[in-house]
Order: sequence, then C-alpha cells, then structure tokens
Amino acid sequence: GQCTLVCPTGAIVERDATQRVLRALQDKSKHVIVQVAPAVRVALGDAFGLGAGAIATGQMVTALKLLGFDKVFDTNFGADLTIMEEGYEFLDRLQHGGVLPMLTSCCPAWVTYMEKEYGSSLAHLSSAKSPMGMFGAVAKTYYAEKADIPAKDIVTVAIMPCTAKKAEAQRTGLGRGGQPDIDYVLTTRELIKLIKYVGLTFRDLPESPFDSPLGEATGAGAIFGATGGVMEAALRTVVEKATGKPLDAIEFTAVRGLEGIREASLDIAGRTVRVAVCHTLKNAAKLMAAVRSGTSPYDFIEVMACPGGCAGGGGQPIGTRRVVTAQRIASLYEIDRSLPRRKSHENPEIQKLYADALDAPLSSKAHNLLHTTYQAVPPAYTF
Ligand code: SF4
Repeated sequence: GQCTLVCPTGAIVERDATQRVLRALQDKSKHVIVQVAPAVRVALGDAFGLGAGAIATGQMVTALKLLGFDKVFDTNFGADLTIMEEGYEFLDRLQHGGVLPMLTSCCPAWVTYMEKEYGSSLAHLSSAKSPMGMFGAVAKTYYAEKADIPAKDIVTVAIMPCTAKKAEAQRTGLGRGGQPDIDYVLTTRELIKLIKYVGLTFRDLPESPFDSPLGEATGAGAIFGATGGVMEAALRTVVEKATGKPLDAIEFTAVRGLEGIREASLDIAGRTVRVAVCHTLKNAAKLMAAVRSGTSPYDFIEVMACPGGCAGGGGQPIGTRRVVTAQRIASLYEIDRSLPRRKSHENPEIQKLYADALDAPLSSKAHNLLHTTYQAVPPAYTF
C-alpha cells in the first residue's frame, strides 16, 4: 500500500473490516488491490448528494486511488468471467443430459440457504464461483504472475453491496494453500464511511478509469447488479455460442423488472429453453418446491436473495426504498447500453485470460480455478 492513513482514535472499529483495510493500506510490504461490484457504483453517490441511482463509477475509482489502493479493478470483469463458465456449464448440461434446471450460484445468501434447506438438490447449483470469487482466484494467480508480485504480498479487498459476501470470502473453496483469495470485504456502507472518514469531497472528484488487466468489462457484467441481469448476461453468450450466429436482439426484456418471478422461453438451436428469474428467498422457495420434486418446467433459474438483486443489497445504504433500487437498476442498464461491448465473450481481457492461462471455458485449468463445491451442512463461518 502507498497510504499513510491511520485512524488515531480507533473510531472505525465495529465488526466491519475498515480498520483492517486501513492497516493493509499502510503496510508498505503489501500490494493492495480492490475490486468493486456493479451495484456499488450506482448506490454510493447518493450518500454524497449526487442523487438516487447516480452513476459514480469514475469518482469512485478516484476515491479508491486516493485511499491508497495500488490498483482499482472491476468485479464486472469477474462477472464476465462467471458468464463464460456458467454459460458454458449450462450449455454442457443442456447438450449432455446434465442436471436441470441449473441454478445460479453467485448470491451467497442464496447458496447458503440452498445448503441449509435443499441439501439434496445441490447438484442443481452451478459450480461456477461468484464474480467476486473468480476475481479473487485470478488476482492471486494470473495477476500475481503478470505483475510479478508473490501472491502472499497481495491483499485483495472487495467492495460489495452485500453483507453475506463477508462470509462467502471465508469459504474454504475460495482460497489456495490455506490463504483466502479475498482478504477483506467492505460493504458499500463501509466504503462510504471510509470516504467520509478521510474527508474526500466525493462529488467534486475527477473521474478515473479502472486499471488493467482486470478492469475491462462489458455491459453484461454491469447488469449482474440487477435481478434478472445474470440471466440476461448468460443468454447473450449462451444463445450466440449455441447457434454460432451473432445475436440481433440482445436485450432480453422478459427477464427484467421487479415482478417477484419472471419467466421466458426461447429457442436455442432448435430446442425450447425455459428460464425463470426470482428475487427474495420467499420467491425462490416457490420455485424450489417443483425443483425438489422433479417437476420444475425450467432449464435455468436465477435467484437473488435481496429485493431487486444486489442493487437493493443488504450492504447498501440503510433504508433503501424500492423506488431507489429501481433507479439504481435503471442506471445499471444505462451503463450496459453505454458500453461498446455488451456480451461477456467479447471482453478482450477475458479472451486474453483464456488464451494466456485457462485454455477454454470448462477446461481443467478453468475448473480448478473458477469452480467450487457445496455441502449440505454449511461450514461454520467466522466473521
Ligand atoms: Fe448479496 Fe443480496 Fe446480492 Fe445476494 S442479492 S449477492 S445477498 S447483495
């Protein structure tokens, strides 16, 4: 870290990780990098007078640089990578009689709920790690090598709209050699606190771009922060890969919105594929009744535990109203529309990662690094 910040009074304590992150930032022997989830950039500005749903990506990157992070990267890159692995996993299950419906696995509150309540249905969960988990694995291997810094000297911090991500980071599947891939998780709230603590006038900050090579992302990565976004991002890649033809209409509007459960059916290379999207565990339970009894009509289901998905996540500023969540979601789709590339497989940094280090989606190298396992009895988390 390059930073000389210290909290002299110990005012930033609590159960949160801000103090430990500040300490890592002061440790000159550590290279401290940060990844930021899609939903954070559309929630943060509100706390600094920018208005609900304001897109504050550039100021956020500047703030993180001023806080002393050596590199500021994008969880959206991890989301593009998740789509590659999860999308190909879905195609593989579809084409080779795998367990269907496949369930998304990027929301830790949902995964933990599955492990507790539906232990006999765990084969339905995609084995793909979450974007945060994939990012951490790539950071401590590929990035360490590229940057020529030993993994033990790299500290990875994740800024998440989510409190459950703190527990996810401690899953043994998300680490190597006894060391976690994600060292610290800060919520959006904690980041706001840090920015206020060092006294940055956030709204006046200039905009900065993310660093490379884990900072490039497509619009598909951006919409992960909204309920329905993972499904839409996956379909953009799955349909194109299955048909071998470029997709004309890439906006799958049937899976958008705030209805508790949405569904769509589409033709993928001559086969009708039925997908469903839900948010909140109450709605998930409705879909899971049929999954458990083997009567679910769906092939692929996305579940997010929080209302609206991560845009309305448990680590976002307290008191988020539905209308604010909707504004954040609208901003995520705006980010998607504004980007030159909107399909994960078109991300040049992702293509380079596969070419340099992973061969192809679902290869044994990719499996090793980017997939995980679940257990019916949840591990004992420590916070
Ligand atoms: Fe976390 Fe909620 Fe997003 Fe799930 S939906 S990953 S619990 S913020």
